[in-house]
Amino acid sequence: MSQLLETKIPSRIYQDFVFLKTKIVVNTLANEARCYVCSKGLEDGFSVTAKNTIFGTLLFCDKHYSTN
Ligand SMILES: [Zn+2]
Repeated sequence: MSQLLETKIPSRIYQDFVFLKTKIVVNTLANEARCYVCSKGLEDGFSVTAKNTIFGTLLFCDKHYSTN
């Protein structure tokens, strides 16, 4: 499939395809944003903020963000 795209389709269209694929990945991550401690998310009315910890980048709600 990728070999067919590189040889038969102009490179501009191939780049548009890559951009569309990246956009879908970003939307998926936003929907799954939940607090690392209580698993509350945007659907529960909580704002979720990313924070760098010794375990990596974790997400916390406004209640648990200041306590970690
Ligand atoms: Zn929380």
